[in-house]
Amino acid sequence: MAHPDVRHSLGGMAEATKPTPPQRERWQLHWNHLFTEIVSTDICTGCSGCIVACPHDVLAYDEHWHPVLIPTGRVDGSPARCVHGEKSCTMCTRACPRLRGWEPEIDEHLWGRVRNTDDRNEVIGVYKDILLARTTNAEWLENGQDGGLCSAVLIHSLHKGYIDAALVSYVDEKWRTRPGVARTEEEVLRAAGSRYTYSANLLAYADAVADGAERIALVGMGCMSSAPPMMMKRGARKPGKRIALNIGLLCSKSFTDDIFEDLIEAKYGVTRGDIVKMNIKGKLQLWLREGINDDNYLEVPLKECHAFTRPGCNTCPDFSAQHADISLGGLGQSGGWTLTIVRTDLGRQILDEMIAADWVEVNSAVDTDPDAVDLMRKLAAKSRARWPVTGDGERPDADLRPGLVPPA
Ligand SMILES: Cc1cc2nc3c(=O)[nH]c(=O)nc-3n(C[C@H](O)[C@H](O)[C@H](O)COP(=O)(O)OP(=O)(O)OC[C@H]3O[C@@H](n4cnc5c(N)ncnc54)[C@H](O)[C@@H]3O)c2cc1C
Repeated sequence: MAHPDVRHSLGGMAEATKPTPPQRERWQLHWNHLFTEIVSTDICTGCSGCIVACPHDVLAYDEHWHPVLIPTGRVDGSPARCVHGEKSCTMCTRACPRLRGWEPEIDEHLWGRVRNTDDRNEVIGVYKDILLARTTNAEWLENGQDGGLCSAVLIHSLHKGYIDAALVSYVDEKWRTRPGVARTEEEVLRAAGSRYTYSANLLAYADAVADGAERIALVGMGCMSSAPPMMMKRGARKPGKRIALNIGLLCSKSFTDDIFEDLIEAKYGVTRGDIVKMNIKGKLQLWLREGINDDNYLEVPLKECHAFTRPGCNTCPDFSAQHADISLGGLGQSGGWTLTIVRTDLGRQILDEMIAADWVEVNSAVDTDPDAVDLMRKLAAKSRARWPVTGDGERPDADLRPGLVPPA
């Protein structure tokens, strides 16, 4: 019998044809894989990417920041077996920024190479520049958590037409977060500042689209900012391609909502409604309404907060939001500046335009605050070490994650 790569010519002579290119393996992972490997383990961060990508609307978000398969989507009532998954729908797994070889795949997609694990600098992911930046607008600075850069970038991008909406986090007077859409300067500023409980901003995607948005910015921690490029890489392009700007927030953890009652109120007598601003700088800092205490201020040691760490954060390896266009944090020796990692050409272009228009002030972070940059790298290395990569039984597919060995 002829070898499959050999065709017979009319004259009966065997003729070698060009070798067939290797077939790309078809992506076949579906909800059952996602459920087994991610959702029912500690790996799921609750980013909500799978819910947004689900074309059948059978995934919902539960109060524990997990996706759940709704009863009408189940086979035999099983939360692990999706009717559509078993008929070959794979959209949820294509969107998950933690499934299998997510990190090198997204790296390749964004930068054409994987992060250099031998380069200590790239423990924070691939980047172009590290800056300290702040808005020159006094009102925006006042509203912002650090240098108000995130809000300034969103407002600039709305003005310039890079985006027509942004997925942000709103908060009520009781510090309950709510993912939402910002379309105007006023809405961006209303959402400014940081909450240290989770807000799955991607969930607001459907509202933005329903309202006609075509070019959308996402603001979110690393767990969320890896979702759009993952969607694009693995072919969940419908939601992925609408995310036109990806702003990441540096993050080592977020807290469960009961931290308010069970720690801040129980131990310090401060209720949700007493708090006007919060920050984390080596401790949880709370600014309070007039008259709550003498200083209108309270500090809570972080070691008391650890018991309230959201489960999905304990294994998250990404402190520095490594797959965003721009990643922003509050590390720094002096307050009022945003530590800014510029990663993509788009991130660079937006920042250059803002500098040219005098919308922002910037300094090289490496020159002006090397300690902050050093601390960022240490925190990034610490987070990387949380990822279960050792194959000692925590994850069945641990060996499928090249490039994720924590630095020594
Ligand atoms: C949970 C969390 C943990 C963080 N941990 C660190 C850290 O360990 N080290 C560090 O350097 N920086 C950390 N940051 C980032 C920091 O708090 C600031 O968000 C960042 O410096 C940008 O400041 P800004 O003044 O430029 O942003 P702003 O102009 O104030 O804009 C902040 C944006 O973040 C959005 N946002 C607020 N809270 C949330 C939330 N819970 N989830 C999603 N989006 C939200 C707002 O809607 C707004 O669009 C963390 C942020 C969050 C939300």
